[in-house]
Amino acid sequence: MIQTDRGAENDGEWCESCAVQTSHDVSIELRAESEKDKNAKFSREPYRITRCQMCGETTSQRMNNV
Ligand SMILES: [Zn+2]
Repeated sequence: MIQTDRGAENDGEWCESCAVQTSHDVSIELRAESEKDKNAKFSREPYRITRCQMCGETTSQRMNNV
């Protein structure tokens, strides 16, 4: 097997649902958080959305925390 070196993110990520590391579709999404952060100047936060290609489970991760 030839390993393509396009970056660690393409190697797969842990899926809670599959309980294994699987391939994921990764996308970035802006989500409004107006309810929680009423005092925040910006109401949208960038989220990293990963969707398991095996089971279809989607996981969102707030990018500002990283
Ligand atoms: Zn999965």
